[in-house]
Amino acid sequence: MSTTPRISTHNLPLLGEYDIVVCGGGLAGCGAAIQAARQAARVLLVERLEVLGGLGSAGCVGNFCAAEGGLAGQGRVFDDILAGLRAYSAIGEENGWMIRRNKTYRRENWTFDHRFLPLVLQEMALAAGVDILYATDIVGANVENGRIQQAVLHNRSLMQTVRAAVFIDTTGDGILARHAGGEALPDDPQLPGVIKPSNMMFMRQTDRPAARPEVEPVGTDGVQPDYSVWPDIPGHLALKMKLFHRKLDTGSGQGYSDAVIAMRREEPRFAEHFRQRQGASHVFAGAAPMLGLRESQRIRGDCVLTIADCRAGRRFADAVAYGTFTVDANETAEILPPYQIPLRSLLVWGVDNCLVAGRCFSADRLALSSARTMATCCLMGQAAGTAAALTARADDSLRAVDPALVRQSLIAAADKNQTMTKYLEE
Ligand SMILES: Cc1cc2nc3c(=O)[nH]c(=O)nc-3n(C[C@H](O)[C@H](O)[C@H](O)COP(=O)(O)OP(=O)(O)OC[C@H]3O[C@@H](n4cnc5c(N)ncnc54)[C@H](O)[C@@H]3O)c2cc1C
Repeated sequence: MSTTPRISTHNLPLLGEYDIVVCGGGLAGCGAAIQAARQAARVLLVERLEVLGGLGSAGCVGNFCAAEGGLAGQGRVFDDILAGLRAYSAIGEENGWMIRRNKTYRRENWTFDHRFLPLVLQEMALAAGVDILYATDIVGANVENGRIQQAVLHNRSLMQTVRAAVFIDTTGDGILARHAGGEALPDDPQLPGVIKPSNMMFMRQTDRPAARPEVEPVGTDGVQPDYSVWPDIPGHLALKMKLFHRKLDTGSGQGYSDAVIAMRREEPRFAEHFRQRQGASHVFAGAAPMLGLRESQRIRGDCVLTIADCRAGRRFADAVAYGTFTVDANETAEILPPYQIPLRSLLVWGVDNCLVAGRCFSADRLALSSARTMATCCLMGQAAGTAAALTARADDSLRAVDPALVRQSLIAAADKNQTMTKYLEE
C-alpha cells in the first residue's frame, strides 16, 4: 500500500451520495457509467475536461483498433457508440471512413470522426440516467478501514466530497486508486523505461481535398521527426507524432508538463518536414489539446494480467472481459490469440470498494499494449460497471461478486452477440 498524503474531508461540503462514482470519462469511464446506470444504479460520472471520450476525443485518436473480423462483439455500450457515430455519418466505409485491414498482423483500423464522439457519449450517458459533472478533478479520497468513504472533488465550487458504495477509477492514471492507497505497478523488466509520449496533429491539404499520401517511415534518431500518417476527415490528414527519443518522465506532474511543452515546440518542425516530403499544399491545421500516453500508471490489482497470459490465450474462472488485438509497443507488433481479462485485474489491491478499468488496469506493459485499445477499454469499463452495480444492489463487497453473473449480464445486454459468448464463456 502506498502512503499518499490524505486531504482532511472534515469540513468539506457533501455534494451527494451515489451507488457508484466513476472517475474519468474516457472510453473506459463511459463504458462503466453507462452500463451501471442501465442496470438501475445511481451513477455520477466525474470528468476533469469538458468533453467525454478522453484520448478518443480530446486526444483526437480517431481510430478504433480491432482484430481481424471487425469491431462488433465488444459489448452493448460499444455497439451503441458505433451506432451513435454512424447516425452522424462519422464512421463506416459507407460514409467515406476508411477501414485499414492489415493481413500480416490480422488486425483492422476503423477511422472515425473524433469530433462527434463527445456528443455521442454524452447523450448516451444522459439517456441512461448518468449524472455528469464536467470540469471537475478528483483530488483525493477519504479512506477508513480499507474502504473509500468519500472522493474529494475540485471544481468551480471549490472542494467538495461525494459518497458512494463503489468507486471506479477510469482516469487512465489511477488517480483515485492511488489517493486511496492503491499501488502503481513498478517498472516492467520486459519494457523498461519511462512512458513515452506521442500526440495527434493535423495537416489540411489545400489542393486535393481527399487524397491520402504515402509516407515512408521516418527514422527515430531524434534528428528526423518521427511520425506515422493517418487518414482523417476529408481534406485533412493526421500525423501521429512521437517523442520517443526524449527522456521525459511522463509519470510525474512536472515530467508530463515538460512533455507537453516539448511536443508543442515540435509541431512546426513536424509540419515542415511533412510539407517538404509531401508538397507545400499541406498546411498545419492544429494538434490535439491532450497529450497522448499510450501506456500509463497501471494499478496493482488482485491479479496482474501478464503478456504470458495473453500469449497463451489464458482462460480465467473470473473472466469478465477479453482482448483480441496485437501487442503494440515500441514499434513492435505480435499477434495474440484472444485472451481473457479477469475481474481480479480490475480490483484495486488493498482497497475494498474500488475498481480500475481502461489503461490503468492491473497488467504488465506488454499486456496493456494490447488491452489499451479503445474497444477493449470500453468493455473493461462495462465489466467494472456491471460488477459495481451488482455490488451496490446487494449492498455487498466487490470481492463477493460472482463473475459468472457479470458475464451473464454482459452477454444478455449484448443480445444475440455470438462473439462475446465465444470469448467469455467457451
Ligand atoms: C497517440 C495515440 C494513438 C493511439 N491509437 C489508438 C488506435 O489507433 N486505436 C485504439 O483503439 N486505441 C489507440 N490508442 C489508445 C487509446 O486511445 C487509449 O488507450 C484509450 O482511449 C484509453 O481510454 P481510457 O478511458 O482508459 O483513458 P483516457 O482516454 O485517458 O480517459 C481518461 C479520462 O479521465 C479523465 N481524468 C484524468 N484524471 C482525472 C481526474 N483527476 N479527475 C477527473 N477526471 C480525470 C481524463 O480527462 C480522461 O477523459 C492510442 C493512444 C494514443 C496516445
